[in-house]
This record gives sequence, structure tokens and C-alpha cells, in this order.
Amino acid sequence: MQFATVIVNKTARALDQFFDYQVPSHLENKLLVGMVVLVPFGKNNQAIEAYIVALSNYTDIKNVKEIQEILSNEPLFDTDTLELIRFMKRRYFSTYLAALKTVVPYGLGFNSKQTGDKTLQGSALAVTYEEALDALESARDKAPVQARIIELLMQNEFVANCDIQMILGCGSSAIKSLEKKGILQTVSIEVFRNPIDFSAIQKSKALPPTREQMNAIDSIVNHLDCFQVYLLHGITGSGKTEVFMQCIDKVLTQGKTAIVLVPEISLTPQMIHRFASRFGKQIAVLHSRLSMGERNDEYKRIKRGEARVVIGVRSAIFAPIKNLGIIIVDEEHESSYKSQTVPAYHAREVAAIRAKQRNIPLILASATPSVESYYKALSGKYKLLTLQSRAKENASVPDVSIVDMRRELAEGNRSLFSTQLQKEIALNIERGHQTILFLNRRGFSTFISCRSCGYVVKCPRCNIALTYHKNKNFLTCHYCGYTQKNLHECPECGSTYIKHFGTGTQRVEEEVQALFPNATILRMDLDTISAKNSHRQILEQFEREKIDILIGTQMVTKGLDYENVTLVGVLAADMSLYTDDYRANEKTFDLITQVCGRAGRGQHPGRAVIQTYMPDNSVLTLACTQNYHSFYEEEISLRQALLYPPFCDLISLTFSSFNENAALNAAKLAANFLKNMLITENLSILGPSPCGFYKINNKFRRRILIKCKLNDTIVNMLTDYLNKHYKSAENRFVSLSVETNPIHM
Ligand code: ADP
Ligand code: ZN
Ligand code: ZN
Repeated sequence: MQFATVIVNKTARALDQFFDYQVPSHLENKLLVGMVVLVPFGKNNQAIEAYIVALSNYTDIKNVKEIQEILSNEPLFDTDTLELIRFMKRRYFSTYLAALKTVVPYGLGFNSKQTGDKTLQGSALAVTYEEALDALESARDKAPVQARIIELLMQNEFVANCDIQMILGCGSSAIKSLEKKGILQTVSIEVFRNPIDFSAIQKSKALPPTREQMNAIDSIVNHLDCFQVYLLHGITGSGKTEVFMQCIDKVLTQGKTAIVLVPEISLTPQMIHRFASRFGKQIAVLHSRLSMGERNDEYKRIKRGEARVVIGVRSAIFAPIKNLGIIIVDEEHESSYKSQTVPAYHAREVAAIRAKQRNIPLILASATPSVESYYKALSGKYKLLTLQSRAKENASVPDVSIVDMRRELAEGNRSLFSTQLQKEIALNIERGHQTILFLNRRGFSTFISCRSCGYVVKCPRCNIALTYHKNKNFLTCHYCGYTQKNLHECPECGSTYIKHFGTGTQRVEEEVQALFPNATILRMDLDTISAKNSHRQILEQFEREKIDILIGTQMVTKGLDYENVTLVGVLAADMSLYTDDYRANEKTFDLITQVCGRAGRGQHPGRAVIQTYMPDNSVLTLACTQNYHSFYEEEISLRQALLYPPFCDLISLTFSSFNENAALNAAKLAANFLKNMLITENLSILGPSPCGFYKINNKFRRRILIKCKLNDTIVNMLTDYLNKHYKSAENRFVSLSVETNPIHM
């Protein structure tokens, strides 16, 4: 007799375990690990989907039930994938099912449908994952179709409405009623169908590498058949992409394949173009703006071996590619590699597991590596490769100056622009060169600072900027919960010009236009990026029409390589220094380095002007000279002193409920329990404190942060606690999610 061990397609945590079924005689020896079957489940023997994870000749279960039928002819996953699922479950506290659905991209078996439209009507969640989970639970019995739609959107950031209807065999009414309830939102989005027009792309040949590039390439291609993580640290414009392409070339000649992860596909059209011109139709592009049909087309090309170089965003790490020979993670420090939905995996960590399984190299690349990765490189765990100069002849790093905005204010300049930046812009317009103005909006208007002296209100315990809660007019620390009254006078200098930050790109645009009435200006931010004006179109217009000034948020900082841009202005550089996140310094250093790296990529030297209220801040001064090493030295000692990653992991437990007290009580209960249980482990527990967005859609959220090195004991303890939480009647109205090293605090 044969038995199959399966994961069932039920989201409830209580069912997060393996189940055994007997294989009926007509299916004996026909089943394989990874196949989808139909099994009877529960008291009513309801038929549900299940996924085979093991086959054996033995079971402990009495009265074992029989599998009903096979739903897939070929396995959806293999044993490596299974190992990855187990890893994800433990590392990110997800269920087997959630991990499986992430690792084996949903809808793999569906047929594609072609439409010629340029834009796509689609849906995305309008609520947080936890709220979606609640809506899912309450819809499951009453409105099963709505429940399936919610599930679908929890697995995919965005799904075209035609795909929802095709996959679930439903009409549009379920989508509409979910929209009415505020659970999903309709989005219209540009389709990148056949993102690449190969006929318009000229084939490119490998450039003769510089000496630095040669060293990096040699180190990697001489050891293609062993697992090793490389950290390729190269300044902006040093030619990292050329290094990737030459390594991939070598991998392809050995008959193997490659995965290249990029932070956000719509931001890197130039990168895709370069890969397309080198590797032609061997590339496949995967990102969240493909309709599911198109994504399946790409999956099929990958599975059939037609596409041998996969370029994609974080989920492309799960691409069903055979014979993988190398993995590359470009801009490895980017936070978009961390998923925001359960399981909240980090693509860099998953990439390391995959590379190890296949015994192949993993290249992490960045101009500003994450402190964690650099730490591993210095300690010998990763191999460090460096590129210190720009690859193109004559291109040099830009000349950067810092402007003290406190002085400007003291001298009566209330404009958003310093006198120096105004002069530089005028000069650029006169010369016919282009300018990029960057408005930093990360941590928008949440911290309080003094415009006269630059003082920022911080938590005395955590050294993190306190967050201003407008409705209750208090300041609080999102790590430990320290709370104080709002200030109206600066404790340092007594000025009453102390308030929270906040300027929009629109205001910047108006002011630039007023200062330079004849200049042509383009604005790029979330508002201007819509179906009509895509990112790519704005950038193409900027390049083609030689628009004088491009104003933008974070979107203008990355990946742009335009030779005619010679000036970059950073307004309010301080903004990201005071987000409620221990990575604030790292992010600021990265932003400033990246944005300055946009200037002077051609023949003409570049300039950058950084406006700040804290001109002596060492993160800013070091970023201006691209002095990563000194920045790292400072930052790593801070991290060590305050016990932040890489010296520990941060585990967050978020409790949310419509009932403020219920959320708080559940959090307190957990804090006490964990304090007692984990006394033997070397860790500290912070909180419960209100979350960054304390109250969303009338739900209250409380959080506990645990600082520890995640080991087996702690993983087991927390997993048990999660299960216990969901079994207790008291917590019926409180949802709990556990996240490892969350990106947003
Ligand atoms: P990075 O990714 O490190 O910022 P890029 O790969 O974008 O740098 O390279 C910057 C520019 O230098 C590109 O225009 C690229 O074509 C050019 N380049 C790269 N390598 C070489 C080389 N060996 N010789 C000449 N130009 C090069
Ligand atoms: Zn002050
Ligand atoms: Zn604190």
C-alpha cells in the first residue's frame, strides 16, 4: 500500500500541518512529489485541493482516507522547492500553504489570454494584509467567490480583472462589491506587453573590461561550480552591469542559466535594454505589472528552456528555471527585496538558499551595500570585490557641495531654494544642460525638528526620531513606546520655529516655474505616474526633448544614465535621516550617493547641491564624498552599541483589533509570556508600543519587538505562541502577525 503526505489548501493556522492519505490502487506508483490532488477533508469530507510533499509505504494514522483524483499531470515543485518552503515557514513564521503559494507562483497551470490593450483594468488590495485576512475569514462561508478574489490579491500585488474572471470563472459583480466594501481598489495600469521590441534593439558585444572589472569577472568565472556569495561593491557608473553580463555569458556557454534580480522593473528600462541587446530573445522579464496570462507565457518560455536569463523583481527568485548557473542581485541593499505580505521573505536570503542548493555563485552588487552585507564581506563570509572608478573614459564622480539652510533662513531666504542652487540651475539652463531636483519624501512629515538650529526630537532610549501623532498631539517612539508631549519651543535654542517637515513636489514645481519662467519642467511622482504618463514616457520625454528640469521623489534617484544631466539638487536632505527606523542612516547615505551619481555621466563634469539643516551631519558629509568605508565604520559601531542587525534579528509581533483594549491586552499577555519563557535566551523585548500607523480603518495596532539572534529555540517558541494565540477564545478578535526583520516599522 502507498501513502501520500500532503499540505491542504486551507489557510487556517490550525490546519498548518501535514496530512496523510492513502493512494488508491488505480493511482499507485503514478503520483510524484509536487503533484496536486483532490482529497476529502473534515467531517463532511468536502473535496479540497492538496499538494503532495512525500510518498511512503507507511502511516501512523488509523482510518486513513483515500485520495480522490489527480489534478495536475506534472509536479508543480521538486524537493529543492520543498526544502525552501520549510526554510520560509521557519524563517518568516508563515504557514506551509502560504510559503508554498509564494514559492510556486500561483496560476502556473492556467492558459494565457492575449489582448491588445495598452492599459489594464485591475484590482489590488486597499487594506493591510491582516485586514484582508479578516475579510477573508468572514467572506469564506457567505461569499466564497469574494474570498477567492481576496486570496488571489494577497498572493499578487495586482491582478487584471479579466484574469480574475478567467481564473475564478466569475463575473464582475464580486469584484465590484469588494471595491464597495473598501477591501480592494481598482487600478488602471500600463501593460508592458512584450516589454522588449527586439527588432528595434541593436546587438551589443562585450566591452573590453577595465582592469578592475577584469579582476571581478575572473574571481567569479573561475569558480562557477561552487557556492560562494560575492559582494560587488562598485561606485555608481563603475560598470557593474558589464561585469554581470560577462559572467552570465560564461555561464550560458556552459549550458546553464541565470537569474538577475532588480529592485523595480519600471525603474530600470535601461538595464533591460542592455540585457536585451546582449542576450537577445534568451531573456525573460518578470514583474508585477504583467497580466497573469503574460506571466504564464514567460513561465512557459522559462520552463521550456527558451528563456535562459530571467530578469525580474524579488519574486523572480522563484522562477521555474532549470540548470541554474548563477544568481545576481543588483542594488542588493534595496528594501523592495523584502516582501510586505506573508510570508515576508527577503529575496537576498532566498537567493542564498537557492545558490547553495545548486552549488553556484551568488553576486550581491551595490554602490552602497547594506551594512549587514558589508559586515559579512569583511568577516570573510562573503567575498568582497571592488570597483573604485567610473568605467567610461573621462567620466568622474560629481563635485558635491553642502548648503546650510539654517543660514539661508537667517539671511532672510524663505524660498525652498538656496541662493547657490538657484545660481547653478540658471547656469545649467544657460548651457543647455539638464538638471534633476530631488525632493526626499521618505518619513514624510512625521518627525519634529527645529528650523533654526536643526535639533530633532529623538527617543532617549533608542536614538530614533520620535513620531508625531497628529490626532492626539503627542510624540512617541515606535520601537519602545516612549511617549511625550509635543513641543512648541526648541529645547536647544528656544526658537518657536519647531515643527514637522513637509513639502510636496507640486509646490517645488510652482516655485521653480516662478523662479525660471522660461524653463521647461517635468514632474515625476506618484501623482504624475498613471496609465497615461508612465514612468518610461516621462523619462523618454526628458531625454528626447532635453527638458531643462526634472523634479521628482525617490523615483528619480535610481538607474538613470543620461549624459546631458550635469546638475543634481537635493532639497531637504535631512528628511530620511529621521524616519522611525534603525536603517535611517543607511538609507540616507544610499539616497544621496545614488542621486549624486546621476550627474556627470557623460563628457561634462557633474555638480550636486545638497540642502540641509544639519550640514555637519557625518552621514551627509560622507555621502557627498562617496566615502562608504568611513560611513560603514561609524554605522557598524552604532549598530553594535545599540544592538541592531547584523548583531541581532528584530522580530515584530503585531496585534490588531477593532477593540483598542483587546489589542493591548493580547500584546501585554504575549510580552509577559515571552519574558518568562525566553528568559534563558539572550534577548530583549521592547513594547508593547503603538505601530507607525497606529489606527488604520478603525483597527488598533500594537507591537512587540524582540531583539535576538533567531535560533531554533526561539523559532519553536514563537511558532507555538502563534498557534496558541489563534486557538484561544480570548483572542478571537485580535489578529497576530509575526515578521522577521521588518522593513517598515
Ligand atoms: P553601474 O551599474 O556600476 O552604475 P554601469 O554598468 O551603468 O555602472 O556603467 C556605466 C557606464 O559605463 C555605462 O554607460 C556603460 O556602458 C559604461 N561601461 C561599462 N563598462 C565599460 C567598459 N569596460 N568600457 C567602456 N565603457 C563601459
Ligand atoms: Zn532649535
Ligand atoms: Zn524608544
